[in-house]
Amino acid sequence: MTSVSNPNELSSATELDRNHVWHHLLQHKPLETSEPFMIVEGKGMRVWDAQGRQCLDAVSGGIWTVNVGYGRDTIANAVRDQLVRLNFFAGTAGTIPGAVFAERLLSKMPGLDRVYYINSGTEANEKVFKMVRQISARHHRGRKSKILFRERDYHGSSLAALAAGGQPERAMQYGPLPEGFVQVPHCLEYRKQWNVENYGIRAADAIEEVILREGSDTVGALCLEPITAGGGIIVPPAGYWPRVQEICRKYDILLHIDEVVCGIGRTGRWFGYQHFGIKPDFVTMAKGLASGYAAISCVATTNRVFDLFKDDPSDPLSYFRDVSTFGGCTAGPIAAIENMNIIEREALLENTVRMGERLRRKLEALKAKHEVIGDVRGVGLLQGVELVQNRVSKIPVTEAQTQRVVAVCRENGVLIGAINRALPGLNTTLCLAPPLIVSENEIDCISQAIDDALGRVF
Ligand code: PLP
Repeated sequence: MTSVSNPNELSSATELDRNHVWHHLLQHKPLETSEPFMIVEGKGMRVWDAQGRQCLDAVSGGIWTVNVGYGRDTIANAVRDQLVRLNFFAGTAGTIPGAVFAERLLSKMPGLDRVYYINSGTEANEKVFKMVRQISARHHRGRKSKILFRERDYHGSSLAALAAGGQPERAMQYGPLPEGFVQVPHCLEYRKQWNVENYGIRAADAIEEVILREGSDTVGALCLEPITAGGGIIVPPAGYWPRVQEICRKYDILLHIDEVVCGIGRTGRWFGYQHFGIKPDFVTMAKGLASGYAAISCVATTNRVFDLFKDDPSDPLSYFRDVSTFGGCTAGPIAAIENMNIIEREALLENTVRMGERLRRKLEALKAKHEVIGDVRGVGLLQGVELVQNRVSKIPVTEAQTQRVVAVCRENGVLIGAINRALPGLNTTLCLAPPLIVSENEIDCISQAIDDALGRVF
């Protein structure tokens, strides 16, 4: 362990956790008898559990968040100093960290002009949905209210975000969901839906087909992840994005890019959309924005959109009638400023490109060795390894098998993630998203752990 964790405190916390904490995304029955998984410390890209075991964290805090790694005292100090100066004031007023970070963030996003602060990825996406609906209400007589989303994308856990989610199993049991969200097909070429040469164009054309079916004057926005993360690490094929942009322009549809995972360096650029030459109307971001040192998320948008909310100053409805209390916390933007300083000071975008290439080469080598790997895909330090029972049938391996791979990696001291779909026919993909500080040696350890685990499980 890196520092002094008191064994009595640890065992009591473990017991308290077992008795009182309702964990996210877990079946709790097995936890009654299994050894609890508690993370007590982190430094760099290593974490320590309650038993004192060290793990290399190849998923940045379990859900691709801790981009600059653990134990950053410059972020902690900046947050501490800001909290004693001013911890909070409602978003109706300005604060220095909020103003400074907005300008800094927008300097990385040419073409975008305004930032709206909230606290989670879900909330950021919800705000855009509300903005789109309000634009429709004020400027299109309520007609352009539909929001398109893509199969396999994920935009959060609230009811509207689930309605806009392309992973149906997440929404099961939570209906009825809000109306007006319409799905377009996924674009994963490995699991082809069309037998054509230009797959990217075909998949984008499928969006146009949905628009025409729904009535183009009823569609207000298209919400997409630049690279689908939790739906199986899906990088849209060549030709997809330019065609998507063209379709949005043609039908006057606002393009909302969800950068909650890809944003702030994960793919080797500040934002995932910047690989594809897209000009979004909205960008949402959360997770890596402050690397988990404070809760912060943002919507960034254009002056063109912003101006739609001040069309008639004499009308009491002519502004965005929305508030989120903790959007006024200063810890978020101050942590985000220092997070960005670290990325620049330590050239972490460049490291992400180099280490992403190394990781990719290693994973391709594993594919040559292990028949169970059907596909390797990703950009930068966001990589996926799809596991199949058979390369011809492409039937996914079972959830139990994937969980076993993850467990063996953990036994070998490496935390990796897995996308498991409870529904048949969807992909089963290992996911790797180490902090952007990862070194060559650590990339090699990650790939070695996967190699061993695949050898043992299959
Ligand atoms: N959007 C994407 C692409 C995500 O992957 C997630 C979470 O994993 C969210 C939105 C929701 O973010 P949050 O959990 O902060 O609400």
